[in-house]
Amino acid sequence: MIRSALAGDALINRGTATMHNIAVIGAGMAGCTLARRLIDAGRSVQVFDKGRAAGGRMATRAAGRLRFDHGAQFMSVRGEALQGRLADWQRAGVIAQWPAAAIDGDPRWVGVPGMNALAPRLLWGAEIRSQIAITGMGADRLGWWLAGEAGMLADCFDAVLVTLPAPQAAGLFERCAGMDIKPFIDAMQDIRYAPCWTLMLSFAERIGADDCLRFDAGGALNWAARDSSKPQRDSAQECWVVHADAQWSQDHLECSPEEIEALLLEAFAAATGCAAMPVHRCAHRWRYARVIRPLGRPCLWDADSRLGYASDGCLGERIEDAFDSANALADRVLGLVD
Ligand SMILES: Cc1cc2nc3c(=O)[nH]c(=O)nc-3n(C[C@H](O)[C@H](O)[C@H](O)COP(=O)(O)OP(=O)(O)OC[C@H]3O[C@@H](n4cnc5c(N)ncnc54)[C@H](O)[C@@H]3O)c2cc1C
Repeated sequence: MIRSALAGDALINRGTATMHNIAVIGAGMAGCTLARRLIDAGRSVQVFDKGRAAGGRMATRAAGRLRFDHGAQFMSVRGEALQGRLADWQRAGVIAQWPAAAIDGDPRWVGVPGMNALAPRLLWGAEIRSQIAITGMGADRLGWWLAGEAGMLADCFDAVLVTLPAPQAAGLFERCAGMDIKPFIDAMQDIRYAPCWTLMLSFAERIGADDCLRFDAGGALNWAARDSSKPQRDSAQECWVVHADAQWSQDHLECSPEEIEALLLEAFAAATGCAAMPVHRCAHRWRYARVIRPLGRPCLWDADSRLGYASDGCLGERIEDAFDSANALADRVLGLVD
């Protein structure tokens, strides 16, 4: 709904009126799951993300013909809610098992052909507004408004649901105009993340190492995997994703990508015995990679102001936590749970 078309209307009755136009900020697993639930319930949803593509930390980076899942590596499934979605996503051809990463027969799932494949499937029917960083929000008698770097957006919303990592959400909540949302600001302070430096590597020839390597804490490395061993990847490309240890990433947080490339490549060569030089290398810093202290509540929802928050930060460090948090918020927005 366009703001100017509403000028002069009566005050919105926030408590009881049906929510039709809903803004979801962030298109990671939480934002995409929320959008899907709300669209299926007949709501009109606009999803805003600062990135070029949806997926958030379920990301796939392209470099020419090379592809790297440089964020989340795989999805493990513990609860019935996520388990119940797998068959549908498999049928749709957007996820598959990655046998090399299974532990004791417990499967690990990846997006196909890339980790970011699930997001567009979930967002079907939503209006996607990509490459818009939301920098301001507020409420007035027309409802919620949002602002991007270019100024206030034209639409107004009956509800706003924020799914950003907590430090980014806190910045947005602190700038909220016209509404006291201190409980949201306070809750964001309780959530903590560890960073992760990631190194993407490609070699001219296959190197002699297992597909998945897990490392004990204390060194530079946490994980390294042959990305091209995942299903439906180009197995002719020898692509690797290396994740640094959380403490190591923290200690080297402000190093340049070039310094990190050299240090992690050295650690990778020592761990695998690989003497070959990569034909492609690129480092990426995830400042808010893994949740180390979750909120301990499934989501935040204020029915009067119609503001909500969901993310992995509410429940834990995994994709499934973001999914569960979003479902908890959708239940509250739709009035299925108080
Ligand atoms: C290196 C790494 C490895 C991981 N490995 C695993 C793993 O193997 N298994 C697993 O289960 N989990 C893993 N995770 C964690 C998993 O990726 C997250 O738990 C999950 O993806 C979080 O989803 P989310 O929707 O809560 O947040 P996000 O995916 O972070 O989504 C937030 C979205 O908000 C957008 N955004 C931010 N600020 C703004 C703004 N101002 N305006 C608009 N949009 C904005 C971002 O672009 C992003 O798309 C890993 C994460 C990282 C980084």
